[in-house]
Amino acid sequence: MNKNEFSDELRLAFTKNGVAEFATDEICDRLYELYRIFSEVSSYMNLTAIRDEKGVIYKHFTDCVMSARLFPQGASVLDVGSGGGMPALPLKIVRPDLTVTALDATAKKVDYITDTASKLGIEVRGMCGRAEELGTDKKLRESYDVVTARAVAELRILSEWCIPFIKQGGKFIALKGKRGADELSDAERAIKTLGCQVTAIDTTPLTLDDGTLNERTIIVCDKISHTAGTYPRSNAQIQKKPL
Ligand code: SAM
Repeated sequence: MNKNEFSDELRLAFTKNGVAEFATDEICDRLYELYRIFSEVSSYMNLTAIRDEKGVIYKHFTDCVMSARLFPQGASVLDVGSGGGMPALPLKIVRPDLTVTALDATAKKVDYITDTASKLGIEVRGMCGRAEELGTDKKLRESYDVVTARAVAELRILSEWCIPFIKQGGKFIALKGKRGADELSDAERAIKTLGCQVTAIDTTPLTLDDGTLNERTIIVCDKISHTAGTYPRSNAQIQKKPL
């Protein structure tokens, strides 16, 4: 696909999925550049399994952009397990008002994200490490307005990795797939114990280019009280005895 074909398909994907307001010329140009860099790097680094043009447009970019309106204006956002920069990079492109940090346990993925951001002329900070270890750092704990994560871990595990980073009054926005509702029922106790309350569940499916629907669930929680200093526990404890 050349740039015009890519932009046309992106506009169609955004329109079909209710986010047409983000399909400006500037955003289409940036997402095309992101796609080009992503494809080139994917030829030698395993960023994600989905690499074909339509897959990237729909299952990555459009899927990420469908959550963009949920982020409060000017929020500081931490994307836990950002991998190939999803949602961090598309989110910063469509919502330049946000301050975005991408956290991943793999250094070369974090380097890819920060290099790509600088090539695109946007600012996305990178942070390398395991969430459950960095979440015990006093400077990082309860320091973000919003923590988000997509395709990283089961919700009750993910909650203990993510919620300690959120300021009181902030939000946890978990981008989950078709098992989102089941994961939520298993995670309710963990979410409450860690200081959050579920405030919204969005099950709007992603409409693909051929009209088929991909089930997805966005779970939004408000941080209503501080997370006790005992959390996050070590990964061994989290996995062995999820909250
Ligand atoms: N969020 C991206 C997406 O939607 O395409 C990437 C998902 S990828 C399947 C999961 C990523 O989470 C990997 O890059 C992995 O290194 C990272 N990860 C897994 N456990 C982690 C942890 N405890 N702390 C930080 N990153 C973690």
